Amino acid sequence: MAVLSREAAALKCFLCGSVCGHVIDRVVRLAPGVRPAETLSRVRCPRCGGSVYVDHEIDRSFLQN
Ligand SMILES: [Zn+2]
Repeated sequence: MAVLSREAAALKCFLCGSVCGHVIDRVVRLAPGVRPAETLSRVRCPRCGGSVYVDHEIDRSFLQN
């Protein structure tokens, strides 16, 4: 089994499922339009205002760009 050199996850909105950013190698990268907050639990979805969660089950293809 291949070992991934980078650890990645998506930040997704609980309510609408919109991707609000990514966490790559423990660094949070918010999507455009998402306001930074002190903690991830305070980040809000720009579309519906919902809270976000970290989803580790993501398509990793964006890492290859
Ligand atoms: Zn939302």
